[in-house]
Amino acid sequence: MDGLALRLARLIQETGPLTLAQYMALCLHDPADGYYATRPGLGAAGDFITAPEVSQMFGEMIGVWAVSVWAAMGRPAPVRLVELGPGSGALIGDLLRAAKAEPAFLAAMDLWLVELSAPLRKAQAARLAGVPVSFAESLDQVPRDAPVIVIGNEFLDCFGVRQFVRRDGAWLEHRVGLDASGGLCLGLAPPPSGFSAPADAPEGAVLEVSSAQEALGEAIGLRIGEAGGAALLIDYGRDRFGFGDTFQALAGHRKVDPLARPGHADLTVHVDFPSVAAAARRGGARTTPITEQGRFLQRMGIAARARTLCDSAVRSGRPELAEVLARQLHRLVDPTGMGQLFKVLCVHALAADPPGFSDAEEAA
Ligand code: SAH
Repeated sequence: MDGLALRLARLIQETGPLTLAQYMALCLHDPADGYYATRPGLGAAGDFITAPEVSQMFGEMIGVWAVSVWAAMGRPAPVRLVELGPGSGALIGDLLRAAKAEPAFLAAMDLWLVELSAPLRKAQAARLAGVPVSFAESLDQVPRDAPVIVIGNEFLDCFGVRQFVRRDGAWLEHRVGLDASGGLCLGLAPPPSGFSAPADAPEGAVLEVSSAQEALGEAIGLRIGEAGGAALLIDYGRDRFGFGDTFQALAGHRKVDPLARPGHADLTVHVDFPSVAAAARRGGARTTPITEQGRFLQRMGIAARARTLCDSAVRSGRPELAEVLARQLHRLVDPTGMGQLFKVLCVHALAADPPGFSDAEEAA
């Protein structure tokens, strides 16, 4: 066992088995040994790949979205552009390039990146060379005196869940404890007092509850209700209530045992979008329908953008690039790739839903 595993074992001996949410937070963010704090592995050479790492077109479409939302907000200056968990900085770099089409937006923008990971902050600053940017550890640290446009791709999936399972007609909680030889193992404990679950759950059903995801949804709703603006949240997750175990660990692009090497793998859960949206409405904002990523990107014009990039690749004598772009487009929008599993939710304070969220856009 290395550093973090040993410290977790000691913590469990002292305080009892951990909830999955506690375990995830420690494995991801422990300052000495946490995954994001020490060895975040985004991209093809790392542990997992995200949409902005697949293609520049993803961040560009979000740039088109941000500029049109800013117009719908009445072109406020300043406007705080906030990215939650910017990873390598690819998304924000591509967004800003697309936003060059609207220099007034860039002039009005005050850019904030919410990031805990020191190595990733460094990568983001390098990617944005020359662009003035401020860093924060949470949305709460971003000043409240101007409207916001918030972007978060694969951010909420890092916010852990408590996991409950129905056994012999009763609910029990999955917790990380210690086995007979002192290693980490998953066990069952009674649920907390006040726990409630749907009465009609079948035997074996797994229920995931994320107070951290909901708290973030509420904070975003509160901020937008007060200051105005919009937030775009993109993640893999569900668009309606459902049971299921979605806790997973990825290392080297493979699913691994989440308890095997704490701090060495990316740990995620599916985002419970209906609960996040309800929390944002409680906070005082409106929410759009929860929409599939493929649909959202198509409505934002990704096919036309792909054609423009392909044409220019062919014109400059690089037809192989056109094939790469076609593959990227397919991966982002097709149901067999990221198009259906990934969902998009917008929290906003606008009179009408922003672009990307209405069936009418398909017909256009
Ligand atoms: N949005 C990027 C990266 C996704 S990985 C992309 O799509 O490629 C998750 C990102 O969120 C990382 O940058 C990670 O360091 C950051 N992160 C995770 N939990 C966080 C938290 N609680 N507070 C701030 N940043 C967090």
